[in-house]
Amino acid sequence: MAETIDKAVARRRTFAIISHPDAGKTTLTEKLLLFGGAIQLAGEVKAKKDKIQTRSDWMKIERERGISVVTSVMTFEYGDHVFNLLDTPGHEDFADDTYRTLTAVDSAVMVIDAAKGIEPRTLKLFEVCRLRDIPIVTFVNKMDRETRDPFEILDEIEAKLALDTAPVTWPIGRGKTFAGTYHLADNAVRRGDDEVERVKVNGPDSNRVAGLLPENEQPDFIEELELAREACRPFDLQAFREGHLTPVYFGSALRNYGVRDLIEALGAFAPQPRAQEADSRRVDAAEAKMTSFVFKIQANMDPNHRDRIAFVRVCSGKLSRGMKAKLVRTGKPMSLSAPQFFFAKTRVTADEAFAGDVVGIPNHGTLRIGDTLTEGEEINFRGVPNFAPEILRRVRLGDPMKAKKLKEALQQMAEEGVVQLFSPEDGSPAIVGVVGALQLDVLKERLANEYGLPVDFEAARFSVCRWISGDKGELHRFIEAHRGDIARDLDGDPVFLAPHEFGLNYEAERWKAVRFDAVKDYQ
Ligand code: GDP
Repeated sequence: MAETIDKAVARRRTFAIISHPDAGKTTLTEKLLLFGGAIQLAGEVKAKKDKIQTRSDWMKIERERGISVVTSVMTFEYGDHVFNLLDTPGHEDFADDTYRTLTAVDSAVMVIDAAKGIEPRTLKLFEVCRLRDIPIVTFVNKMDRETRDPFEILDEIEAKLALDTAPVTWPIGRGKTFAGTYHLADNAVRRGDDEVERVKVNGPDSNRVAGLLPENEQPDFIEELELAREACRPFDLQAFREGHLTPVYFGSALRNYGVRDLIEALGAFAPQPRAQEADSRRVDAAEAKMTSFVFKIQANMDPNHRDRIAFVRVCSGKLSRGMKAKLVRTGKPMSLSAPQFFFAKTRVTADEAFAGDVVGIPNHGTLRIGDTLTEGEEINFRGVPNFAPEILRRVRLGDPMKAKKLKEALQQMAEEGVVQLFSPEDGSPAIVGVVGALQLDVLKERLANEYGLPVDFEAARFSVCRWISGDKGELHRFIEAHRGDIARDLDGDPVFLAPHEFGLNYEAERWKAVRFDAVKDYQ
């Protein structure tokens, strides 16, 4: 029987993993999929990455540098829940991609290396989550190695993130003696992820716990657990949902500890798909009519087909195969004839998807980042951000005969969000902007491989870019007075280009009625 919308929504958990490189995100992802039954053998996430890399030339960059550029989505089921895990690039040069992906999740798992604590990239990604009130579940990984004291880790989270912590489990032993997790509130033990169910015990001094630890460590464990109970906050669902408190789990993704605890936590506490803000109203996930938005475009996932996939997050209703949707930006109807789900190994045709699900929609350039699809309603979802590029370059083309082709190629890359493209008002050649230098490498590689356009980059005389808006007359006067420093982005919105921060600040002082923005929401 077809699933009702209410039930489908209640079952879904859409989340991302945030972490500093090397903390164990890939390993944890593999294990989530393994225990979720989405893959047969751990190691296939990496194996799949390798396969795609050999299939696709432009991803050579990834392979050479050992970084993950591509965002993907993985779906698995565990117990009664359907989990959509949105993967994000690890390297900070692709931060804008990560931020856009975080607009499509309802919660996040923060993975921390138990020896290293909060690292810079964890902090940055956490701040993005906080801006969006995304609740965070913490997984302290690598408990099988030399670690810091768990209390110290909790203190560091509280101090560095200004976030309350509530340990839900406590590690039984650590390093070489790490042997399981103890559920503080339930008084239950799991000796590792091979045990599907936790086993109730009488307390930390029970035989089951004693059997797991060397005799000389037992008194310390009992004492530590007492302290954890007395000194730490209890878990508070509301505080978690509001983003003030994080439940903390300990484990080892590599050795299969704590992963089931984590999945259960996501099922039990993480929010179901939340209401999404559109320009004219809030859209509730259980509404009958389908609404969705594009947060990511991926070209040439399969170079044999030269296809372009738009990743769409469903916000309400039911997206079904073959339905006619309205693309609000153009007002035109669009037939969703082959929406796809992604699993670790394969993509399959999606017959129906509900709020919280992410489907891929193959298209030939019709869909752009930030686009809203509806069943006819005239609304636009807000909040998929565009960040002012920090590096601006002109593209130098070896063969001037190919200028038109370059223009088209750049336009396509900009629509995918690989680069931003700015056309100067004075008619001079376009300027590309990126947030991180590696994005320029990707651009160069793809222009060469996919379009046969070998290019170089040369410095533009600008290094700062801001979207300008404000009082119509004043904006017009500003644009007239600065023609040589004004360009239009892909949507035709004006930007002001300055040689340096100082130049920007100087103008901002003089033109108080003009707004200079470093972030633009896609329309
Ligand atoms: P990512 O960069 O965050 O995706 O991290 P990976 O999952 O690739 O892990 C980085 C390294 O840490 C790899 O060598 C993993 O095998 C190792 N690793 C991951 N989890 C654990 C763990 O729980 N214990 C130990 N000892 N090593 C781990």
